[in-house]
Amino acid sequence: MTFDYDLFVIGGGSGGVRAARVAAQGGAKVALAEDDRYGGTCVIRGCVPKKLMVFASEFPSAIEDAQAYGWTVHSGGFDWSAFQGKLHAELDRLEGVYRTILSSNGVDTYDARARLADAHTIELSTGERKTAKHILVASGGQPVKPDLPGAQHAITSNDIFHLETLPKSILIIGGGYIACEFAGILNGLGVQVTQFYRGAQILRGFDEEARGLVSEEMIQNGVNLHLGTNIMEMAPVDGGYRVKGTNGSDEVFEQVMFATGRVPNTSDMGLEEAGVQLGRKGEIVVDEYSQTGVPSIYAIGDVTDRVNLTPVAIREGMAFVETVFNANPTPVDHELIPTAIFTQPEMGTVGLSEEAAREQEPIEVYATSFKPMQQAFAGRNDRVLMKLIVSQATRKVLGCHIVAPGAGEMIQLAGIAVKMGATKEDFDRTCAVHPTMSEELVTMKTPVRTA
Ligand code: NDP
Repeated sequence: MTFDYDLFVIGGGSGGVRAARVAAQGGAKVALAEDDRYGGTCVIRGCVPKKLMVFASEFPSAIEDAQAYGWTVHSGGFDWSAFQGKLHAELDRLEGVYRTILSSNGVDTYDARARLADAHTIELSTGERKTAKHILVASGGQPVKPDLPGAQHAITSNDIFHLETLPKSILIIGGGYIACEFAGILNGLGVQVTQFYRGAQILRGFDEEARGLVSEEMIQNGVNLHLGTNIMEMAPVDGGYRVKGTNGSDEVFEQVMFATGRVPNTSDMGLEEAGVQLGRKGEIVVDEYSQTGVPSIYAIGDVTDRVNLTPVAIREGMAFVETVFNANPTPVDHELIPTAIFTQPEMGTVGLSEEAAREQEPIEVYATSFKPMQQAFAGRNDRVLMKLIVSQATRKVLGCHIVAPGAGEMIQLAGIAVKMGATKEDFDRTCAVHPTMSEELVTMKTPVRTA
């Protein structure tokens, strides 16, 4: 049987574009359909614009610190529309880069929504039908709001980059990556931020000591964080939305944002009809090679709800091409993935939390928390945390947790050592870089506790 394409990719985000490009470079005839903007969540409404907003939001404290260091500087206020104009110009540029990557590698692109008609056939919203030997679903995910009265008025992270004006006040619901990152960003930009999180501590699943410090610092920086609190209902009123909370609060906020998780984009795509199995959250069920139960259909990235991070989707895309087009079956390695949460302060983490490691085996915990030189000199009370979890039996570092400015940059490098299986003694025989914050990672001599 002949097909129009060797590979048809559904979704032009980081994972889909990478797989399409690499397969095409290897000589495959490839097409890709995207019904929104090329670049996907990461580039258009996630990591990239978020990080630029983090940078924007850090200037007020940098200006205060500059004064403490003897500079005569004055903040003239923040011009949201000027920043937004530059932000969207940058996103347009990046989208162009993604389109060029595809066209210059000979990938046919369809600016259309794609559905599966069967295991080898794609039906486009333009009415066209295309056949392919292999289909790769990389359609990503989208934010979800809980079903409660008035929730339709609230925004999500998709909308935040498009607000015409910055609100004076905002309520953010949730305690995950997105809620905590935007609480810091908007607080830095001068918005009065209230955050409701239903659990006992934000950033569930991460090391308890690390998330405790992030939470303390967020509160110290001015985020009005309410733990053990959820929203019950919201309704439009003059000047915003009146919100009733489970803590008995009844307050008006100019905006309300839900950051209550994301769901895979699998609805109305003909997946189940084609025989593809979906999980409880609607995610595509795949094996270690990203293959579904239908041999010609594979899926990567957030739509599979494994580890929902851009670099992971990219690696899944590369492993897919290696497996299918280079006859080299390559499982995706999801172990010891370093990650950063761009809260203020940042958190960088790799490996097991203290709590998870204790469950696994006897451990030693090395940790130090201190006021970093740069901020202490400026009169700030900010504290940072450097923490290692060590196996008593093998001496391997099982987890590394950093809460500090620049923690994302630090954990990338510490992540190499942990991934290589470095022991505590390997850390110890590495000479300190002085004076830095991260030198503490190689100078902690005595465990603070064993468990
Ligand atoms: P998360 O799943 O991380 O967090 C969702 C939060 O919403 C949790 O605190 C959850 O509470 C809470 N929640 C869920 N349902 C409700 C509800 N009905 N009412 C109130 N609260 C609720 O999702 P995010 O949207 O923050 O992020 C999605 C994913 O995107 C992340 O897991 C991550 O993989 C990725 N991401 C990565 C970033 C990075 O690398 N820096 C940045 C942003 C996103 P509970 O804990 O109780 O379940």
